[in-house]
Parts: sequence; structure tokens; C-alpha cells
Amino acid sequence: MKFKTKWRYFLMTVVVLITLPVKNIGAIELIDTELIEPFKSDLTVEELVEALPEDASLDDPALMLINRENRLEADLDMEFAWTGTGHAYNANIFEEFNALITAAEQAGYYFETVSAHRTIAYQAMNFDSRYNMYIADGYSDADAFYMTDMFIAPADATEHSTGLAFDLLGTDWQEYGRDLHQAYGQYGSAIWLAENGHDYGFILRYLEGKAHITGYEYEPWHIRYVGKDHASFMYEHGLTLEEYLALINLRDTAEV
Ligand SMILES: [Zn+2]
Repeated sequence: MKFKTKWRYFLMTVVVLITLPVKNIGAIELIDTELIEPFKSDLTVEELVEALPEDASLDDPALMLINRENRLEADLDMEFAWTGTGHAYNANIFEEFNALITAAEQAGYYFETVSAHRTIAYQAMNFDSRYNMYIADGYSDADAFYMTDMFIAPADATEHSTGLAFDLLGTDWQEYGRDLHQAYGQYGSAIWLAENGHDYGFILRYLEGKAHITGYEYEPWHIRYVGKDHASFMYEHGLTLEEYLALINLRDTAEV
């Protein structure tokens, strides 16, 4: 028993490679390929398919898709690591997350984690509290729901559940007491994150002008771990995770 406890402690504190269970999410609902619009790339969809990293797979746990069309049935089982602010995240990416934070510091940017892993129950509370705030401000039910829904995912539709997503704010923005706001995207730390996160396996998940694909408005603070090769490909071609997965699916289903 002693050994087991020790081993458990080790799991909780050090990076351990475990497989994310994917059984709690059903078959992936992918976007129509007509929606793919790589805004930084001159390549056609066919050329992008050709250029995909060889190991890109719909079954890769790091590419798990959770959005309004792909909802979780139950909280995922995982080991946790914790950020400096005490937010839990998936221990599988302990090294990658810390490498990102260290690189940012070397570039002169200091990030605070505002949010990382969330359970379904926590997200439900999150949604309700924003909704109730709008109701208290005098908005109608419909307006309060609409405004909440623009930024806050329904309980079972947030990828924060994967433990691979983080909301980060730089101290260059936070020192003015500012919170999650799109204007943050103009600040040095946010620009650094958007341009360099892919080197550590992270993408800016909700890109400007892609809300019709991701289901969420532009969020300069929300990053998602997908793995270095995938992140670099998405960054280089201006693709969202939804578009990337649709490309993989095209490759897999193409007639030879
Ligand atoms: Zn977020």
C-alpha cells in the first residue's frame, strides 16, 4: 500500500504520460469542408491535405475536439498538475506548459492563469452566474442567455474539460486591473502568446473572424495544447482546430 501511495504522489506531481480517455465523447461531428478558409495560406485545401504532418490523426487525444457540436457526456479522468495560481490542468502537458511560461518570461512577459481545467458542474455554475448577472442588470431572459452564450460555453461544451486549455493574462494587461476582454489582443504578452505558443504546442483556439467555425468569439487569452507539429501547422496556415480535423478527415476519406 505504501508503494501505491508513493506512486500516486509521483503521478500527481511529475509529468507522466498517460492516455486521455476519449470514450466519453461520441463520434466527432466535423465541419463542412467548404468552411475551411486558411487565411494566412496561399495553399488550396487539397495542398493543405498533402502538407499535413504525417502523424496527424483524428484519434490523437491531444486533438480532442470539444465544442457546441461535440459535447462531453461525463468529466474526463486524468491526473492533474497545478499552475502557479493553483489551477489544475492535465499532467500530461506539465513540461510543455512550463516550457511555454519559461519562454514567455525570457521574452519579458509574465502570465497569470485565470482558468484551466473545469468540470462540467463548475462550468454550469460559471454559465449561470454570468446569466444571473445580466438578469440582475435588467436584461430579458433571451438577451441574458444570448450575451452569456457568446463567451461562456454550455456546461458540457467547454474544452477546458480536457485540462489542455488555459485562459492566460499577461501582467502588462492585468496591472491595469483588466479582465478577459478582446482588447487584450493588442497587448505585448497576448501578441507574444499568439505568435510563439505553437513552438511549445499551443494554439490560440478562438481566432478572430472564425466564430462561425469555432462557435466562440475571438478570445486572445484562451490557448489550447494540441502538440507542436499540429500547432505549428495551424499557426502557419491560420487554421482552427475544427479546420485542421476536417483536413485530416479529408485525407483519411480521400479515394486513392
Ligand atoms: Zn478559456
